[in-house]
Amino acid sequence: MELSNRQEHILNIVKEKGPISGEQIATSLNLSRATLRPDLSILTMAGFLEAKPKVGYFYTRKKQSDLLEESLNRFLVRDYQSQPIVVRENESVYDAIGKMFLEDIGTLFVEDEKGHLAGVLSRKDLLRASIGSQDLNTIPVHIIMTRMPNLTVCTPESSILSAAQMMMEKQVDGLAVVEKRENGLKVIGRITKTNVIKAFVGIVKEE
Ligand code: ADP
Repeated sequence: MELSNRQEHILNIVKEKGPISGEQIATSLNLSRATLRPDLSILTMAGFLEAKPKVGYFYTRKKQSDLLEESLNRFLVRDYQSQPIVVRENESVYDAIGKMFLEDIGTLFVEDEKGHLAGVLSRKDLLRASIGSQDLNTIPVHIIMTRMPNLTVCTPESSILSAAQMMMEKQVDGLAVVEKRENGLKVIGRITKTNVIKAFVGIVKEE
């Protein structure tokens, strides 16, 4: 957020003299209390200042990045996730490639016969398998998938920010959104870099 000259000025006064009343700030700036009211509201709403009745305004000392993180942490995976596209462990690489094109996505999740998350297939996993001379109809996906427990997952309650961080750290394009079941994890959603980009653009445009 860009502050106006007057808002910067107010901040400096409060940093130096706070807690200080609105009236006193107005006097220091040679302005009326009414003129200052909108600036004080903006600075308070944006978290630069706090106002306490009978005490006055004081500086919160929160960094802009902390404020941004606090507000981004309110946006959760469950509100931005997509439907997961799932294949069974014994399905062929050929069928998985077909599904990836048909569904127009880049990450497939693999379930075991009990319906628990067993692995993940990326575009390059399938490309790599296609380079050899083997018949893709005869290779089951469990041979080539990245398997549990090496999968990075999140829950519907994870924040979009933490999901984005995990994708960045692990250098993957998507995460399974899971629910814990007795003997494993059930895939209930998919969050990808595309979801994160959409979420961030949506958040900024709405706010
Ligand atoms: P691509 O391989 O098409 O570049 P990714 O960067 O998503 O796509 O995948 C890189 C590797 O990481 C692949 O081998 C894939 O199986 C694996 N992978 C993808 N998503 C995850 C995940 N959530 N957790 C662990 N490994 C993953």
